[in-house]
Amino acid sequence: MTTWLIPIFILGLIAGSFLNVVIFRMDDLKSILTTRSRCQSCQKTIAWYDLIPFLSFFLLRARCRNCGEKISVQYPLVEIFTGVLFAYLYLMYGMSWGLVFYLIIFSVLLVVFVYDLKTQTVPEIFVWAVVVLSLLGGAYFGGFTLLSQIFGGIIGGGFLFLLVYFSKEKWMGWGDVKIGLILGLLTGYPNAIFALFFAFVFGSIVGLVMIYFQKKTLKTAIPFAPFIIFSTLFSLTYGQIFINWYLNLFMLR
Ligand SMILES: [Zn+2]
Repeated sequence: MTTWLIPIFILGLIAGSFLNVVIFRMDDLKSILTTRSRCQSCQKTIAWYDLIPFLSFFLLRARCRNCGEKISVQYPLVEIFTGVLFAYLYLMYGMSWGLVFYLIIFSVLLVVFVYDLKTQTVPEIFVWAVVVLSLLGGAYFGGFTLLSQIFGGIIGGGFLFLLVYFSKEKWMGWGDVKIGLILGLLTGYPNAIFALFFAFVFGSIVGLVMIYFQKKTLKTAIPFAPFIIFSTLFSLTYGQIFINWYLNLFMLR
Protein backbone atom coordinates (compact mmCIF):
# COMPACT_ATOMS: atom_id res chain seq x y z
CA MET A 1 0.00 0.00 0.00
CA THR A 2 2.78 2.40 0.84
CA THR A 3 4.96 1.38 -2.13
CA TRP A 4 3.96 4.39 -4.19
CA LEU A 5 3.57 6.83 -1.31
CA ILE A 6 6.82 8.77 -1.89
CA PRO A 7 6.50 8.92 -5.71
CA ILE A 8 2.85 10.07 -5.37
CA PHE A 9 3.90 12.70 -2.82
CA ILE A 10 6.60 14.02 -5.18
CA LEU A 11 4.08 13.98 -8.05
CA GLY A 12 1.88 16.10 -5.77
CA LEU A 13 4.69 18.62 -5.20
CA ILE A 14 5.16 18.93 -8.97
CA ALA A 15 1.40 19.19 -9.55
CA GLY A 16 1.32 21.85 -6.81
CA SER A 17 3.87 24.01 -8.60
CA PHE A 18 1.72 23.77 -11.73
CA LEU A 19 -1.39 24.73 -9.71
CA ASN A 20 0.52 27.79 -8.44
CA VAL A 21 1.10 28.91 -12.01
CA VAL A 22 -2.62 28.45 -12.77
CA ILE A 23 -3.55 30.52 -9.69
CA PHE A 24 -1.10 33.32 -10.52
CA ARG A 25 -2.06 33.45 -14.20
CA MET A 26 -5.80 33.09 -13.79
CA ASP A 27 -6.37 36.20 -15.92
CA ASP A 28 -4.31 34.87 -18.81
CA LEU A 29 -4.38 31.08 -18.68
CA LYS A 30 -3.26 30.69 -22.32
CA SER A 31 0.13 32.19 -21.37
CA ILE A 32 0.92 29.00 -19.42
CA LEU A 33 1.41 27.20 -22.75
CA THR A 34 3.39 29.94 -24.45
CA THR A 35 5.61 31.61 -21.84
CA ARG A 36 7.92 30.24 -19.19
CA SER A 37 7.78 31.28 -15.53
CA ARG A 38 9.23 34.72 -14.84
CA CYS A 39 10.04 36.65 -11.70
CA GLN A 40 6.97 38.78 -11.02
CA SER A 41 9.21 41.70 -10.07
CA CYS A 42 12.11 41.85 -12.58
CA GLN A 43 10.45 39.69 -15.30
CA LYS A 44 13.59 37.57 -15.75
CA THR A 45 12.87 34.00 -16.89
CA ILE A 46 13.46 31.62 -13.98
CA ALA A 47 16.15 28.97 -14.55
CA TRP A 48 15.11 25.30 -14.37
CA TYR A 49 17.26 24.70 -11.26
CA ASP A 50 15.31 27.40 -9.43
CA LEU A 51 11.97 25.76 -10.27
CA ILE A 52 12.36 22.67 -8.09
CA PRO A 53 9.05 22.35 -6.23
CA PHE A 54 9.20 23.22 -2.52
CA LEU A 55 13.03 23.05 -2.27
CA SER A 56 13.90 26.03 -4.49
CA PHE A 57 11.97 28.43 -2.26
CA PHE A 58 14.22 27.55 0.69
CA LEU A 59 17.45 27.26 -1.32
CA LEU A 60 16.79 30.77 -2.63
CA ARG A 61 15.87 31.96 0.88
CA ALA A 62 12.54 33.21 -0.48
CA ARG A 63 14.20 35.75 -2.80
CA CYS A 64 14.61 36.07 -6.59
CA ARG A 65 18.15 35.09 -7.69
CA ASN A 66 18.29 38.02 -10.09
CA CYS A 67 16.70 41.01 -8.33
CA GLY A 68 16.43 39.82 -4.72
CA GLU A 69 12.70 40.58 -4.53
CA LYS A 70 10.71 38.39 -2.12
CA ILE A 71 9.02 35.28 -3.53
CA SER A 72 5.44 34.64 -2.37
CA VAL A 73 5.08 32.05 0.38
CA GLN A 74 2.11 30.78 -1.62
CA TYR A 75 4.56 28.74 -3.75
CA PRO A 76 5.89 26.35 -1.10
CA LEU A 77 2.56 26.29 0.79
CA VAL A 78 0.49 25.18 -2.21
CA GLU A 79 3.21 22.70 -3.23
CA ILE A 80 3.48 20.97 0.15
CA PHE A 81 -0.30 21.04 0.54
CA THR A 82 -0.79 19.36 -2.86
CA GLY A 83 1.89 16.80 -1.98
CA VAL A 84 0.09 15.92 1.26
CA LEU A 85 -3.28 15.87 -0.53
CA PHE A 86 -1.95 13.42 -3.15
CA ALA A 87 -0.40 11.16 -0.49
CA TYR A 88 -3.61 11.24 1.57
CA LEU A 89 -5.85 10.33 -1.39
CA TYR A 90 -3.44 7.53 -2.36
CA LEU A 91 -3.66 6.07 1.15
CA MET A 92 -7.47 6.26 0.93
CA TYR A 93 -8.01 4.87 -2.57
CA GLY A 94 -4.79 3.02 -3.49
CA MET A 95 -3.73 2.70 -7.13
CA SER A 96 -7.15 2.91 -8.77
CA TRP A 97 -9.27 4.93 -11.20
CA GLY A 98 -10.97 6.32 -8.13
CA LEU A 99 -7.62 7.81 -7.10
CA VAL A 100 -7.21 9.45 -10.52
CA PHE A 101 -10.77 10.81 -10.31
CA TYR A 102 -10.32 12.38 -6.87
CA LEU A 103 -6.80 13.67 -7.65
CA ILE A 104 -8.23 15.65 -10.58
CA ILE A 105 -11.29 16.83 -8.63
CA PHE A 106 -9.35 18.00 -5.57
CA SER A 107 -6.49 19.53 -7.57
CA VAL A 108 -8.97 21.77 -9.36
CA LEU A 109 -10.76 22.46 -6.07
CA LEU A 110 -7.42 23.42 -4.52
CA VAL A 111 -7.07 26.11 -7.20
CA VAL A 112 -10.59 27.30 -6.29
CA PHE A 113 -9.72 27.14 -2.57
CA VAL A 114 -6.55 29.25 -2.83
CA TYR A 115 -8.02 31.66 -5.37
CA ASP A 116 -11.02 32.23 -3.11
CA LEU A 117 -8.74 32.87 -0.13
CA LYS A 118 -6.75 35.41 -2.12
CA THR A 119 -9.45 37.26 -4.00
CA GLN A 120 -12.76 36.22 -2.37
CA THR A 121 -14.02 35.26 -5.79
CA VAL A 122 -14.54 31.80 -7.18
CA PRO A 123 -13.11 31.04 -10.68
CA GLU A 124 -16.21 30.02 -12.68
CA ILE A 125 -14.79 27.70 -15.38
CA PHE A 126 -12.99 25.57 -12.80
CA VAL A 127 -16.05 25.27 -10.61
CA TRP A 128 -18.27 24.24 -13.52
CA ALA A 129 -15.66 21.71 -14.66
CA VAL A 130 -15.80 20.10 -11.22
CA VAL A 131 -19.62 20.20 -11.17
CA VAL A 132 -19.69 18.22 -14.45
CA LEU A 133 -16.98 15.78 -13.31
CA SER A 134 -18.71 15.22 -9.96
CA LEU A 135 -22.00 14.59 -11.72
CA LEU A 136 -20.37 11.99 -13.99
CA GLY A 137 -18.24 10.10 -11.48
CA GLY A 138 -19.37 11.08 -7.96
CA ALA A 139 -21.83 8.24 -7.45
CA TYR A 140 -19.72 5.61 -9.21
CA PHE A 141 -16.48 6.30 -7.33
CA GLY A 142 -18.25 7.26 -4.10
CA GLY A 143 -20.09 3.92 -4.07
CA PHE A 144 -23.64 5.24 -3.78
CA THR A 145 -26.69 5.31 -6.06
CA LEU A 146 -27.66 7.99 -8.57
CA LEU A 147 -30.74 8.76 -6.49
CA SER A 148 -28.53 9.32 -3.45
CA GLN A 149 -26.38 11.62 -5.60
CA ILE A 150 -29.38 13.65 -6.75
CA PHE A 151 -30.61 14.08 -3.16
CA GLY A 152 -27.06 14.98 -2.08
CA GLY A 153 -26.87 17.66 -4.77
CA ILE A 154 -30.27 19.08 -3.81
CA ILE A 155 -29.26 19.19 -0.12
CA GLY A 156 -25.77 20.65 -0.64
CA GLY A 157 -26.67 23.15 -3.35
CA GLY A 158 -30.15 23.86 -1.98
CA PHE A 159 -29.08 24.65 1.56
CA LEU A 160 -26.43 27.13 0.46
CA PHE A 161 -28.83 28.60 -2.11
CA LEU A 162 -31.31 29.35 0.69
CA LEU A 163 -28.59 30.87 2.90
CA VAL A 164 -27.36 33.13 0.11
CA TYR A 165 -30.87 34.03 -1.01
CA PHE A 166 -32.24 34.93 2.42
CA SER A 167 -29.08 36.66 3.67
CA LYS A 168 -28.97 38.63 0.38
CA GLU A 169 -25.34 37.49 -0.08
CA LYS A 170 -24.30 38.87 3.29
CA TRP A 171 -23.15 35.54 4.73
CA MET A 172 -22.02 33.85 1.55
CA GLY A 173 -21.82 34.43 -2.19
CA TRP A 174 -23.39 32.70 -5.18
CA GLY A 175 -20.05 31.03 -5.85
CA ASP A 176 -20.49 29.08 -2.62
CA VAL A 177 -23.79 27.60 -3.87
CA LYS A 178 -21.96 25.78 -6.67
CA ILE A 179 -19.34 24.48 -4.23
CA GLY A 180 -22.23 23.27 -2.06
CA LEU A 181 -23.65 21.48 -5.09
CA ILE A 182 -20.26 19.81 -5.65
CA LEU A 183 -20.21 18.74 -1.99
CA GLY A 184 -23.59 17.05 -2.45
CA LEU A 185 -22.75 15.40 -5.77
CA LEU A 186 -19.52 13.96 -4.38
CA THR A 187 -20.81 12.75 -1.01
CA GLY A 188 -24.44 11.81 -1.79
CA TYR A 189 -27.30 11.40 0.67
CA PRO A 190 -27.10 11.05 3.69
CA ASN A 191 -23.37 11.85 3.79
CA ALA A 192 -24.05 15.34 2.35
CA ILE A 193 -25.84 16.36 5.58
CA PHE A 194 -22.74 15.48 7.61
CA ALA A 195 -20.50 17.20 5.08
CA LEU A 196 -22.53 20.41 5.37
CA PHE A 197 -22.52 20.17 9.15
CA PHE A 198 -18.73 19.73 9.23
CA ALA A 199 -18.23 22.66 6.85
CA PHE A 200 -20.00 24.91 9.34
CA VAL A 201 -18.15 23.41 12.31
CA PHE A 202 -14.76 23.94 10.64
CA GLY A 203 -15.81 27.41 9.51
CA SER A 204 -16.94 28.41 13.00
CA ILE A 205 -13.77 27.09 14.66
CA VAL A 206 -11.50 28.99 12.27
CA GLY A 207 -13.77 32.05 12.49
CA LEU A 208 -13.63 32.06 16.29
CA VAL A 209 -9.84 31.59 16.30
CA MET A 210 -9.50 34.53 13.90
CA ILE A 211 -11.79 36.71 16.02
CA TYR A 212 -9.81 35.70 19.11
CA PHE A 213 -6.59 36.86 17.50
CA GLN A 214 -8.48 39.95 16.35
CA LYS A 215 -7.58 39.46 12.74
CA LYS A 216 -11.22 39.58 11.79
CA THR A 217 -14.39 40.84 13.42
CA LEU A 218 -17.78 39.16 13.22
CA LYS A 219 -18.62 41.49 10.37
CA THR A 220 -15.76 40.72 7.99
CA ALA A 221 -16.57 37.97 5.55
CA ILE A 222 -14.47 34.83 5.79
CA PRO A 223 -14.36 32.91 2.49
CA PHE A 224 -16.51 29.85 2.94
CA ALA A 225 -15.59 27.77 -0.12
CA PRO A 226 -12.37 26.44 1.50
CA PHE A 227 -14.38 24.95 4.38
CA ILE A 228 -16.89 23.30 2.04
CA ILE A 229 -14.05 21.80 0.03
CA PHE A 230 -12.16 20.60 3.10
CA SER A 231 -15.34 19.15 4.56
CA THR A 232 -16.13 17.30 1.32
CA LEU A 233 -12.74 15.59 1.47
CA PHE A 234 -13.19 14.84 5.17
CA SER A 235 -16.71 13.42 4.69
CA LEU A 236 -15.71 11.29 1.71
CA THR A 237 -13.23 9.44 3.83
CA TYR A 238 -14.72 9.66 7.33
CA GLY A 239 -18.43 10.43 6.77
CA GLN A 240 -19.48 6.80 6.92
CA ILE A 241 -17.90 6.40 10.35
CA PHE A 242 -19.96 9.31 11.67
CA ILE A 243 -23.15 8.05 10.04
CA ASN A 244 -22.67 4.62 11.65
CA TRP A 245 -21.94 6.23 14.99
CA TYR A 246 -25.03 8.41 14.72
CA LEU A 247 -27.28 5.49 13.72
CA ASN A 248 -25.95 3.38 16.60
CA LEU A 249 -26.63 6.19 19.01
CA PHE A 250 -30.16 6.36 17.70
CA MET A 251 -30.87 2.65 17.97
CA LEU A 252 -29.43 2.33 21.46
CA ARG A 253 -32.08 4.65 22.80
ZN1 LIG B 1 13.46 39.09 -9.85
